[in-house]
Amino acid sequence: MKYQITGFVVGSGESPEPRLVYLGDPQKSLDTINSFFLVQGDNKNLLIDVGFTEQYCRKYTDGIRQERNQDPLLQLSSVGINQEDIDDIIITHVHFDHFSDIIQEYTNARIHIQKREFEFTLNPPHPWFQEFIDVNLLKEIAKGGESRLNLIDGACELFPGINTIPTPGHTAGHQSVLIETNAGDCCITGDAVLNYLNLERDVAPGFNTNLIECMQSLQKLRALSDKGVTIIVGHDPGMLELLEKMQTI
Ligand SMILES: [Zn+2]
Repeated sequence: MKYQITGFVVGSGESPEPRLVYLGDPQKSLDTINSFFLVQGDNKNLLIDVGFTEQYCRKYTDGIRQERNQDPLLQLSSVGINQEDIDDIIITHVHFDHFSDIIQEYTNARIHIQKREFEFTLNPPHPWFQEFIDVNLLKEIAKGGESRLNLIDGACELFPGINTIPTPGHTAGHQSVLIETNAGDCCITGDAVLNYLNLERDVAPGFNTNLIECMQSLQKLRALSDKGVTIIVGHDPGMLELLEKMQTI
């Protein structure tokens, strides 16, 4: 099955390089964006991550700007998608900029996250691991049972042509998503890669919960890239050009 991917930018800001690249230059900062993705094919509308509203984002940071026309629901409606049209949502990880309360608007969607992400988030070894996460939202969604929340245990072909790949390190149960498209295979990396510099320099992101796992995940994604898979790094503005190119094929 071949799918079509559309990316939506929901915010922008800048980050000190060491946050994006482990032990990077503290004098430098780099432009960042926040994004989510619509995947369409096989009579299905699927989201990868959900973005956030301006109001929700303010609860966590002042460092991200969202323009009025960058609201996620507004952007989806501009391509003809209403919130009830979303069938499935794959969450790469549960940080607020990927998993926010807007997810509750998608009442018909089944939500897919890694079991390890769910369990670690609810029972962390230290409270720091719950920062940047709406733990109550996660608990609320779990109340919907299996038909609302699917906990994935490791790598799996979730739908024909859509595979989830565990890429822990940024968070304990982080996952990336490999998708077949007409322009070849494409991997949406979540925050396992924060900037294309991670791949170019072969250095992990600076913001992570486990550096060793982060490096292992980076190796996994580099291997995909070496095989010709298009790597889509959601926080790097450079990904927009790559996505556009894929759409013209
Ligand atoms: Zn993020």
